[in-house]
Amino acid sequence: MHAPHLLILVTVDCFRADHAGFMGYDRPTTPFLDCLAKESLVFRNAIASGTPTYYSLPAILASRYPLAFGRELLGLAADETTIASVLQESGFATAAFSAANPYISERFGYARGFDVFRDFLNVGEFSPKVSPCSHSVRTSANRALSSTCHAIPGLGAAYDELYFQYCQNSGSRPESLDALRKFPSAEVIVDNASAWIKDNATRPFFLWLHLMDPHAPYFPTAEALELMQDRGAGAPLASYLNAYWNREDLTPRRLAKKREQVIGLYDAGIRWADEQVRRLTENLVDMDLWDRCALALTADHGEEFLEHGGRYHAPIKLTEELLHVPLLVRVPGQPAKMIDSPIGLVDLAPSLLDVLSVPAPADFRGHSWFTRILQERSLDRPVITECIQGCTNPFRRDCRIGPRILAVRKGNHKIVIDFSTGQDMLFDLSSDPTERAPIPRGNSQAIRRELLDCARRHVTESHQSRDFDRCQAMQMRDLRLEWAHSPAHISN
Ligand SMILES: [Zn+2]
Repeated sequence: MHAPHLLILVTVDCFRADHAGFMGYDRPTTPFLDCLAKESLVFRNAIASGTPTYYSLPAILASRYPLAFGRELLGLAADETTIASVLQESGFATAAFSAANPYISERFGYARGFDVFRDFLNVGEFSPKVSPCSHSVRTSANRALSSTCHAIPGLGAAYDELYFQYCQNSGSRPESLDALRKFPSAEVIVDNASAWIKDNATRPFFLWLHLMDPHAPYFPTAEALELMQDRGAGAPLASYLNAYWNREDLTPRRLAKKREQVIGLYDAGIRWADEQVRRLTENLVDMDLWDRCALALTADHGEEFLEHGGRYHAPIKLTEELLHVPLLVRVPGQPAKMIDSPIGLVDLAPSLLDVLSVPAPADFRGHSWFTRILQERSLDRPVITECIQGCTNPFRRDCRIGPRILAVRKGNHKIVIDFSTGQDMLFDLSSDPTERAPIPRGNSQAIRRELLDCARRHVTESHQSRDFDRCQAMQMRDLRLEWAHSPAHISN
């Protein structure tokens, strides 16, 4: 049987594994993917190699750990080999359509290897809306009142509540969910992708789509809410729920009152991604390409809904709701299979090249699982995830230079090491899937030692593998871009 020569990679931002139907979720988020899973390799324990986007994507595209070139550097290096550059050099037509994630841009090296790279970040195309009560428009009198109230015990919370209600009532009423959305929906991305496929159908191709529909702020399409039978959540309610969910002054207990409704909006985002992937595959069937097309779908990371007190996906912890992502890979002619071994996304690019019978480059750190699966060999290797603790604004260099958090997973065991405190926590995910009770120190010594040893080797290798020429080139790129965007340069 010939290897397929068309490859589509779909990454869905913030799509956590346990919200996919084929992973056991009980709401109808993924009817199409559930069908596709029946003819795919389904990895039940796929793990992002970093979180959030800027720590995850280097592993997905370039098969290397996010901090391998040094924590102060962000994105891909200018000359870095990626799955796109390998396939482009092998004669594939290549294209990427990314739904306006600011970290997926030419600035951060992601355009390399793509004949066509469209990130939808152009000003005016999908410009972010400013909330009528953002801090930038608070009057100085209001700020003074706020600090006075917060200085008096019990009054600060009352002020915050009144101010929130005032904002909700004083802003103009949102007209539609489409007007509120900050990213192009999956429909726009699939339209662009389908047009590109039509023009490139006679050649082998690699197409990467990055969808943002489940990403906060959660403004799904009205059609997706309809499909989820969540008809109550129009623009005003969605606007209110997002504002409520974003409040810094509420305790997790008060936030939890709206949790299910917010999850409803998030789920509708997943449903829209599913619906549009269905439309994309129908287009491929119509063009008579589906039989030759391999398709992989995964996520860069998950999303928190207060499971451990947090919201969204800040790199403050490495819990399962942030790391565990869906992964299905449909290879024409290959029977479906469920794979339970933990698999890191650092292994995805070499595996997809293996599916296409294209050799992986030597500088990929991951290993292909594809041939091993065909040969029914073991996949039981330690899986590593890393990020920088608290780096919520990677555009600031000082934010990027923090201590590392590292997770190592093997079988059902997972250790998380926080280098800011020097603490580690070991979990048995089979008996404690929600990571409530770390295994007491002194118990499970052999596995703790094995995972710690793996972490030590990873950090040592990561230091030894630094490529200083690349680091310097990336630093120069950063400096050039900072200079190009500085007010001094703009005013000249
Ligand atoms: Zn992301």
